[in-house]
Amino acid sequence: MDTNLPVSKNPRVVIVGCGFAGLRLAKELRHAPVQVVVIDRNNYHNFQPLLYQVATGALEADSIAYPIRKIFAGQENFFYRMADVQRVEPERNTVVTHIGDIHYDYLVLATGSLTNFFGIESLERNAMQIKSIPNALNLRSFIFQNFEKALLTENPDERQALMNIVVVGGGPTGVEISGSLAEMRKHVLPKDYPELDLQQMQIILVEAGAELLGPMSKKSQQKSKEYLEELGVQIRLNTSIKRYENCRAYYSETEFIPTENLIWAAGVNGAAIPGLPPEIVARNKRINVNQWNRVEGFENVFAIGDVANMVTEDMPRGLPMLAPVAQQQADLLAKNLVRILQGQAPENFKYLNKGVMAIVSRNKAVVDLPKDVHFNGFFGWLTWLFVHLMTLVGFRNKIVAFIDWAFSYFNSDQALRLIIRPFSRRDVKDDRGKKAAEHQTATPEYIPTPPAIQTPVG
Ligand SMILES: Cc1cc2nc3c(=O)[nH]c(=O)nc-3n(C[C@H](O)[C@H](O)[C@H](O)COP(=O)(O)OP(=O)(O)OC[C@H]3O[C@@H](n4cnc5c(N)ncnc54)[C@H](O)[C@@H]3O)c2cc1C
Repeated sequence: MDTNLPVSKNPRVVIVGCGFAGLRLAKELRHAPVQVVVIDRNNYHNFQPLLYQVATGALEADSIAYPIRKIFAGQENFFYRMADVQRVEPERNTVVTHIGDIHYDYLVLATGSLTNFFGIESLERNAMQIKSIPNALNLRSFIFQNFEKALLTENPDERQALMNIVVVGGGPTGVEISGSLAEMRKHVLPKDYPELDLQQMQIILVEAGAELLGPMSKKSQQKSKEYLEELGVQIRLNTSIKRYENCRAYYSETEFIPTENLIWAAGVNGAAIPGLPPEIVARNKRINVNQWNRVEGFENVFAIGDVANMVTEDMPRGLPMLAPVAQQQADLLAKNLVRILQGQAPENFKYLNKGVMAIVSRNKAVVDLPKDVHFNGFFGWLTWLFVHLMTLVGFRNKIVAFIDWAFSYFNSDQALRLIIRPFSRRDVKDDRGKKAAEHQTATPEYIPTPPAIQTPVG
């Protein structure tokens, strides 16, 4: 297949991935004497920090995504191809995609990360993840679908498992989604499901480490725990989920939490693309780069953002996988590519940490700024809202998000609770009959409904 890219007198920079890093780099190269070719398997940029709000019905999926072609309308040196990159062939300066081969003069890998299930096959098969818009929509539908099922069952064990939600991973995503689910339990579910006893519904946040929000300050760790406990979230620290089978999340060989809803937010790996020598791919699948984001051993291949493993003196385990790191690396690489073309030496990257934050619920967020400045509560919440609103891509998205948030705030409601999954007669009828029968047997185990239509993570 021909990718129909025009021939240019300028060198071609191929950027794989239009997340935070790829998007910023392509924009910053708008006046550079290069042809910019962006390849992404999705035709939109996805604002991942707000995925959990889509998953819990607080925001529409469309308000956290933006079409790539629209972002770059009018940028003359920009070309986009929607494709899945399958392999890099550096010896031919080519990437192999499902729509054909694309030649590059400079290659920038900005492919982000993938959920890390630590090789636990039962989790990979049955847990829900939250890395893409289809994941988030699926999660929302699945939880509401399970509530519909909980209304129908006569079996108390099954009802409990259908209503329990286990979130694994006490980082920002796990904390934020647990808080949001607890608000949903308080404000939304009692209105929609008056027939169910919501006291029964447990939201359990499981974390392998000794505290929540590991990389944040002690103050933020304690405050977020306090906020979640006030909302009725059960927190189990120093606990790992070892496997997830038959609606049971096992935290030891024999002990388990019954749940049909297990959300896995316990870690990510770099999304390295095959074709690079294995010795330059770190254990967490991030690609080793130097201080200019140049991939070890290559003159014209770079990696930025989550997929880049840049080790510094103060961060020997690599820079954190955060949007500002991705954007700052993209900014510098845009300058460095021009410097390289002009025969000048590139500059070294230095991460400027502007702070980190996590929201727990309405009026409650924790914020850590440089120089040991911490704040939380209402002011932290306002700061979180402001920063996220400003960083969303597209004016329409900012307005829609603002309206959705204002609506939720003043009505204590989340308007978005449609179940949008393909209707399955098996899920709703036949399987229900089968499950009820299984619950009446001496060993009350039942087979879970497949939790998610697994889509390639983006
Ligand atoms: C739920 C969640 C919440 C988060 N919250 C925060 C937060 O509050 N603050 C913060 O700073 N960071 C947060 N992060 C992390 C942040 O989103 C990442 O650090 C950031 O997205 C990294 O940018 P990136 O460009 O490296 O990768 P991404 O944004 O992941 O973009 C990668 C792109 O590459 C494309 N791609 C991947 N492989 C291929 C392929 N083979 N072929 C074609 N296209 C491909 C994907 O479709 C995607 O568009 C969060 C992440 C998640 C998942």
